[in-house]
Amino acid sequence: MKEVKHCPKCSSASYVKSGIIKDRQRYRCKECNYYFTVQKLGKRISDYYVVKALQLYIEGVSYREIERILGISHVSVMNWVKTYKIKRPQLQHNHKPSFEVLEHEQLLERMKSPEYLEQKGLLISEVEGKFFVLNWNQNQ
Ligand SMILES: [Zn+2]
Repeated sequence: MKEVKHCPKCSSASYVKSGIIKDRQRYRCKECNYYFTVQKLGKRISDYYVVKALQLYIEGVSYREIERILGISHVSVMNWVKTYKIKRPQLQHNHKPSFEVLEHEQLLERMKSPEYLEQKGLLISEVEGKFFVLNWNQNQ
């Protein structure tokens, strides 16, 4: 979220929050009483999500699943795949990985078991402070 620096009308840095209008934070300037909202960032999504989405794509996660996990439209992800010419490597096995999103504590709990980390095809990636675990060996 872009931060406001000053009132767009009088440039005062003195303003207070004044409700939310259409999902946007509204502010009121304490100097001139002008109401303004934070500029929308438009459709640009931070590089962080682009990289995460493409990582997941490469790991075999479907567009719909990426949308569910990251909350990014599958159309955006498809566009990035095209834009950056991402090719998914041919996986040697046909089954898709299972995945789960864990809290840090949950992940630590799993890791107490040495067998957990000995699994082949286990990939752990951090997403927004949560841990995304891909596992190709679920059914073996
Ligand atoms: Zn002002």
